[in-house]
Amino acid sequence: MADSLALITDAGVSLGVVIAGIAIMFTGWLWLDPVLSLVIVAVILVSTWGLHKDSVNLSMDAVPSDVNVSEIKKYFLSLTEVREIHALHVWAISTTENALTVHLLCETMPTNNDLLEKIEDDMHHLFSIEHSTVQIESTSGNYVCILNHDKAKI
Ligand SMILES: [Zn+2]
Repeated sequence: MADSLALITDAGVSLGVVIAGIAIMFTGWLWLDPVLSLVIVAVILVSTWGLHKDSVNLSMDAVPSDVNVSEIKKYFLSLTEVREIHALHVWAISTTENALTVHLLCETMPTNNDLLEKIEDDMHHLFSIEHSTVQIESTSGNYVCILNHDKAKI
């Protein structure tokens, strides 16, 4: 869809240049050339604005605009195994792929990979996140994760 829009835009710009060239030939209106150049600049800026925005977000490791972090937080807290979460980060690894890291505090440590498989599957289907890294921490014992800013003793 975006590719066909770009092709149509390119064709429209080319057609505009040809029509302006013919108009200049017959009328002698030389001012048409710089005016058309400014119109083309405006068309290119408008049609590539989304790409510029995505590129800046990507370079800043910002949360991608199509990702709702509070929904992801709600999802993790809705899992029966999970008591708390921290260190949740979502960022774009390309303009089309997102990654996630999270630490999950669980009362009972999983003895198999069922929870991780469910999370990977849900990240893919619910949030279009293909690369997830999950650290599972136990509520028992004295371990306090340094990234758990609510509890860490720094
Ligand atoms: Zn942690």
